[in-house]
Amino acid sequence: MKAECPICAANIELAADTVIGELLECPDCGTELEVVEVNPPKLAEAPKEEEDWGE
Ligand SMILES: [Zn+2]
Repeated sequence: MKAECPICAANIELAADTVIGELLECPDCGTELEVVEVNPPKLAEAPKEEEDWGE
């Protein structure tokens, strides 16, 4: 199955056993993406884990 990169609109081939929450990297723009839907497949930019010690 294929999904579209939300950043650069590239078509990304997903493995048939891809599950929601899986992380992958767009081969085109290098953005880390998270699988948010599988039927139909949908990708979103993965949340970056930032160490924010602002307190
Ligand atoms: Zn991309």
